[in-house]
This record gives sequence, structure tokens and C-alpha cells, in this order.
Amino acid sequence: MAAATEDQIKCSFCGRDKRETAVMIAGITGHICDRCIQQASRIVDEEMSTRLRESVLGSVNLLKPADIKSHLDEFVIGQDEAKRSLAVAVYNHYKRVSQQSSGEDDDVLIEKSNMIFVGQTGTGKTLLARTIAKVLNVPFCIADATVLTEAGYVGEDVESILSRLLQSAEYNVEAAERGIVFIDEVDKISRKSDNPSITRDVSGEGVQQGLLKLLEGATVGVPPQGGRKHPEQKLVQVDTKNILFICGGAFDGIERIISRRLNTSAIGYRNQKGDEEIEKENILQYVSPSDLRDYGLIPELIGRLPLVSYLNPLDKSALRRILTEPKNALIKQYVRLFEMEQIKLSFDKQVLDYIVEKAMEYKLGARGLRSICEAIMRDAMYELPSQDPKPETFKVTIDYAKKKLDQSSFRKLRAA
Ligand code: ADP
Repeated sequence: MAAATEDQIKCSFCGRDKRETAVMIAGITGHICDRCIQQASRIVDEEMSTRLRESVLGSVNLLKPADIKSHLDEFVIGQDEAKRSLAVAVYNHYKRVSQQSSGEDDDVLIEKSNMIFVGQTGTGKTLLARTIAKVLNVPFCIADATVLTEAGYVGEDVESILSRLLQSAEYNVEAAERGIVFIDEVDKISRKSDNPSITRDVSGEGVQQGLLKLLEGATVGVPPQGGRKHPEQKLVQVDTKNILFICGGAFDGIERIISRRLNTSAIGYRNQKGDEEIEKENILQYVSPSDLRDYGLIPELIGRLPLVSYLNPLDKSALRRILTEPKNALIKQYVRLFEMEQIKLSFDKQVLDYIVEKAMEYKLGARGLRSICEAIMRDAMYELPSQDPKPETFKVTIDYAKKKLDQSSFRKLRAA
């Protein structure tokens, strides 16, 4: 059969012949013109974003707050109050997102509710935020408030926070716009009341002002690679309306503000509801927005973080559980590492108690558990893989653990 001439070639989709089109691409059994390609591309984009929206909302529709909490329980020990607040916040947040994407007119508009967690460092604030993002399968990033400065000063623009979210969403703007951002160390950008007026407070109040529009919801130009915005850089427009912001901070010393407000001394006061004595450790549970304001957060920012929750300091029994119970508990990780070497690893019970004791002694919280374990396990992890023959089992005894920790440089940490 003779090859088709120019005027015989037609788009197999719209029927235009080649002379009417700018580009005609040939397939195995047909042709497609530039216009049909563009139209098809639009259909694919729309379809993909609908699927994405449905998958996020779908997972939230399936998960009730109690389900969300039980997912969190798998990874985070204790912190029930924080988990409950987070579960409800997330549940409502994505309900709000679905209300907006349903396109229906609803005269009761659900407002955005970002959260703030107050709690000592290493008590699980970041872990909670990270876990919730994993449960919902949405993009997640952590931003450190201390590196941010007011626009025009050395440091990073607040918009750079969203660069990380974009990266985590693999530059899918639509996915990023439904993500979760954890802003760590917000207490470090509190207003410095003793700030001499000569120097501007560019890393404190200025940053808080900058965060306002992100938190509330606005379309902002984001430098895709992060850092400072500069004129030649192409910015990606990101709408923050449906991004959930979770802030965290240790707010050192806020207990004093809370107890002053409660008009009590920090140690041992009477609960209004009953006669039960409440120790100092529990004071954080009474944290309120007004305490955050007294600490130095500006009222506008507090207004955009309507949900305030707290994390308890981790006591011995919590640390002990953290070591072995979560799905990816430290001890489970070591056992798996050794399993990969065909070695069955076990720990004497006393060793686990000893690790917890040391973490308490050095005041390192849960983060310390890891460094202590590393100090104990490092030599074994170094030597065993090349031993010939390899032992089938390896048991960490209390004497071994003590010896290794004593030999390690870890003890110096105590002085630090
Ligand atoms: P924060 O953000 O409060 O400073 P992180 O969430 O970063 O603390 O906690 C540091 C590490 O300590 C986590 O990666 C986790 O391994 C462990 N950890 C802290 N709190 C908990 C907890 N409640 N349950 C399980 N692990 C925890």
C-alpha cells in the first residue's frame, strides 16, 4: 500500500488534517495533533489532582480521631492529651479541606486551626507531627524557626519553610498545599522585651510577623531551592490555606508564668477542683494562650495558633517503654541490624534499666537513649561483622554495657 500523502494524514482524535495543525505526532496506528495533546494533558492533570485530593480526604474519611490516635500510639509513648488534641485537629482540618473542595456553598465556614505544642525538648513534639503526616500520607517538613529572619536580613526568609515542603512533595504543588509543616523552636522567636531599641528585633518579632500570613493562608512566592529570594529566581506560587502548621517549643520557664497566673507557687498547690496536690511537672497542662503572650509571642500569631496543647516530661517508665515498645523502638532497630548479620542479639533486662537510668542522670531525655545505646553497641557493631566465624548470638550483659559506656567518650557529654 502506498504511504499516506500530507493531506491524507489526519489526527485520529479530532480528525483535523495535517495542514491545519502545528505539530502532528505519528503513533503505531494513528496520529495526534498538538491541540489534542494539550487537551489530553489538561485532562490528565485534572484527573491526577482529583485522585490526590480524594486519596488524602479518603484516608481522613476512613480514620476517625480515635483511629488516628491509635496510629499515633504505635510510634509515640504516652502524651495522651497531645495525641487527642492532634487527632481532633487533623480530623477537623481535613474536613475543612473537603468542605472547600466540595465546591458547595456552606454558610458555616470551618476555620483553619493550626496547633502549638509546648513541652520540653525531646518529649516527642516532632515525632508526633512526623507520625501524623505519615499516617495521613501527606507531605511533611520540619522548619527551624531560629534560622529565620525578617526579609532583608542575614538568614532565611519565612517562605523558605515552604521550599522544604515542596521538596518533600517532589515539587507537586497541589500535594504540598495539603501538607503539614512543623515549625520547631517557636519559643526562640519570642519578642525580646529587653531588646535595646537601637537594634531591630529581626529574628524575633519580625519573624513572627512574617509567619502570620503563612499560617493564616495566603498565596506566597516560594523559592524552589530555598534560601533567600532574589530577583532572578523563578518563584513557585503556593497557597497555604490548607496547609496545617504545627508549632513546637520548649518555652523554658513558662511554668513560672503559668503558676503566677494561677496565683500559686510553682511547687505544690491545690487544685481548684479538689484537694489533690499537683507537682511542678504537671503545671504545663494549664498552659493557655495568655501564657504564650506573656512569654513573648505576639497576639496575632497566637490568634493563628488556636489549639494549644502540652507534652509531659518523660519519666523513667516512659523512657523504658520508648526503648522497647514503639514500632521502630531503638532496641528493635539494633536487633534487626544484627539479624541482617545473622546474629541473634539480646539484652539483659538490667541493661535496659541501666540505659534509662543514665539517660535520666544526664538529663538527656529520649534523645539521650540513642547516644547511650550507640556508645554501648558501637564496638560490637564494628567488630562482629568481620569476625570469622561469626557468633550466632550476642548477649549484652550489664557488665558489658557498663564497661562500654565507661570507655566511651559519652561520659564527657555530662560535662557539656
Ligand atoms: P522534641 O521535638 O519534643 O524536641 P522529638 O520528637 O524530636 O522531640 O524526640 C526526639 C526523639 O526521642 C524521637 O526521635 C524519638 O525517638 C524519641 N521520643 C521522644 N519522645 C517520645 C515519645 N513520647 N515516644 C516515643 N519516642 C519518643
